[in-house]
Parts: sequence; structure tokens; C-alpha cells
Amino acid sequence: MENLRELDKRHFIHPTSSIQQQQENGPKVIMEKGEGIYLYDKSDNAYIDAMSSLWNVNIGHGRVELADAAAEQMKKLAFSSAFSTFSHEPAIKLAEKIASISPANLNAVFFTSGGSEANDSAIKLVRHYWKIQGQPERQTIISLKRGYHGVAAASTSATGIPQFWGMAGHMMTGFTHAETPYGSSTDSAIASLRETIETEGAENVAAFLVEPVQGAGGVLIPPKDYLEKVRQVCDAYGILLIADEIITGFGRTGKMFAVENYGVQPDLLTFAKGVTSGYIPLGGVLVSDPIHEVLKEMSEGTLFHGFTYSGHPTAAAVALKNIEILEQEGLVENSREMGEALLQGFQNIKEKLNIVGNVRTMGLLGAVELVRNPGTNERFTSDQKVAPKVIDALHQRGVICRPVTYDNTDIICFAPPIIINKVQINTLVD
Ligand code: PLP
Repeated sequence: MENLRELDKRHFIHPTSSIQQQQENGPKVIMEKGEGIYLYDKSDNAYIDAMSSLWNVNIGHGRVELADAAAEQMKKLAFSSAFSTFSHEPAIKLAEKIASISPANLNAVFFTSGGSEANDSAIKLVRHYWKIQGQPERQTIISLKRGYHGVAAASTSATGIPQFWGMAGHMMTGFTHAETPYGSSTDSAIASLRETIETEGAENVAAFLVEPVQGAGGVLIPPKDYLEKVRQVCDAYGILLIADEIITGFGRTGKMFAVENYGVQPDLLTFAKGVTSGYIPLGGVLVSDPIHEVLKEMSEGTLFHGFTYSGHPTAAAVALKNIEILEQEGLVENSREMGEALLQGFQNIKEKLNIVGNVRTMGLLGAVELVRNPGTNERFTSDQKVAPKVIDALHQRGVICRPVTYDNTDIICFAPPIIINKVQINTLVD
């Protein structure tokens, strides 16, 4: 094991990690296997994977059906191109399946390898859409502060967490950020959106990109009427609405897609993570019928956008099996019911501990806020943040979850696999 640690330090540059810390300490855990809601490290210590790893292992670990689906497809046709005039059955069937389970008129899919590529693709598609509609000046993408949309060029710029631009600068121009409805009312967040549009000039704005529930921002669940009002503002200014459902899709929030909780229809919807429960990389952009019609009728020549792995047949076969399991095992409903049980558990903790502020869940996406004074909501100062210490203590007790501490927050995030049952929720809460 020591050898593995040394090799890790020497050769493995970890994603979104401190290279310095890695050099000092090496990896804290080297995982060996997964089973249901549990991960096991090389010394066979068990951990409840209360984050579904990266909010993605929705159906839990160790599902042999997905391995079998991949193996069968690989033996038949592991890969072949979807460029130009080529196609294959798994991608066709997956596109049809996703269209059938997604909100109303989202019926055409562009596939990618993951979430960042999905958002970059959505952004390029909306700019292209406006260009062929004779409005090429509609370039600006508005998103929210604290929003996370990925690390490719456009998705880095759309991300509203400044540390992500800090690394290499703003990757693209034409991006701006409005206020998040967190700790404020719908009205003030909507006023900020309107103000941002007016400042940019509505005629220059292509789309508003928003997570229905911000994940990396700290599981920030917006007020019930926020998205509906966002839709009204977008319609009033003729701006397209892109829902980033990369975390929230495929049952995470107790509905197949989170926009269903708000009764809102986006023009485009990006997905990744839960579409394969992380068993194999895959993402995509769903496009509404009216947008698809414009693309069909007015795009001339080649759409110069496509990844080698757009519509990868093996990934598509795994996704089809994953969605079949979600449906057959009623996991979307389970997510809603277990989300309520988790909230009850959080409320019990809040009654016992005088450092717990707001607790919330939507399906199995949840958060516990830590505050100095729950009565006044007074926060801990930046050098006293508690969430990282709690996360360490939980880790030692065999629970993996994630802290969010930037700006003035001190939040513990939860997103357990949506197969979790009541007994396991109680164990997690205990
Ligand atoms: N959008 C959201 C809301 C995400 O949470 C993430 C990843 O965590 C992404 C986009 C980027 O996805 P990926 O890491 O697959 O590129």
C-alpha cells in the first residue's frame, strides 16, 4: 500500500485537489471496491458513500447488470463513429429513451462524454441558434454566482465560483453572473437577473444557464417560485433557458428531472453523472422541439461540433440499463421518500445540537448548515469553519460527505445513492 501511495504522489495529478497536500500526505484513502451504498478501502474499512461519490452513483455501487451491459455491447460493437452519416442502435435507443422521460418538448439529444462538455455544447448550440436566426450579437450567457457548470472553456466561464477562473483566467468572453436566491428572496434574485439582462442589453443575451438546485454551491434549493419567475423573465426578454441537471437529473431530487419539481419547461437541459450512475462517462444536451426545428431547417453544411465519444455505444448501452433499473426498481420515488426521511433525521440532529442552522433536502440532495447561533443565524468566522472538522470526524466513523465553506458558508452536503433504504438512512443519521 505504501508503494501505491508513493506512486500516486509521483505520477498522479488529481482533479480539483491540492497538489501540495497530496505531495505531503499522499492520498488519504485508496478505494478498492463498492457495494450498494458502501465503499471499501484497501484495508477493507467500509464507508457510507453519502455523496454517491461525485453526486453520480445514483443506483449504488457494484451493480453487475451494468457491467454485463457494457461487456455485451463491447463484445458486439465497443465503438463506432456517430459522425456524419454513421449511427448505431444503442445511441439511437438511448436518445429516444431520454426524450421519452424528459419534460414535455425536450426530444432531441446531443451526446457528450460528461457534464462540462454538455454545458460547453449547450452554450455553443444556443450561440449557433441565434446566429442562424439572424441575431449573431446574442452571445452573452448569464448564470448565477455560486453556480458550478464544469471546467471546460465555456463551462469554466459560466461557473460562478471565482476560484475556478483563478487558475488560468476567464476562458471565454461573453459571460456574466447574477445573484443567487440564497439567503434572499425570489424578488431580489429576479431583480438581479433583470438588472443583469438590462446591463448587457437583452438583444445581446443568448441564454440563462441555471442549476435547478445548486450542488457544488452548497445544495442551495431556491424558493418554490424562483424558476417559474425565471422562465417568465426569459420569455419577456426572448432569452433561452438552459437547465443544468448534471447533478439533479435521473432521480436525484425525487423526480426524474428537478425542473419537474417546479413545473418549469427549459429550452435546453444538460445532463451527465446519473445517466450512467457513473459506471462509464456520458453526458448530453436535450434540445426542445422549436430549437431542433430551427437547427434542422436553417443550419447550413456541417455542424462543426462533435466529440469522438459523442454517443459512445458502450456508454449508451450502460445508460439504457441504468435507466431501466431506475424505472423498474422505483428509485425516483424512493429518492423522494428517503429524502423526506433524511430531512426528518436532520431535524432531529438540529434539535440536539446547537450549532445546526438550516437543514434541507429535495429528494436525496441535502444539506446541513453549521452556525454559531441558530437563533440569529450568526455564522462562524472564516478561520473557525466547522464543516471540514465534521467531515473529518465523519470520515473516521465511516461516512463520506462534502463540506462547502467558501464565502460565509459552513455547509455539509449529502447525496447518498438513491437505492438507500430507511434502515441505512437511520444509520447515516446516527
Ligand atoms: N454541472 C454541474 C451542476 C456539476 O455539478 C458538474 C460536476 O460536478 C458539472 C456541470 C461538470 O460535469 P463534469 O465534471 O462531468 O464535467
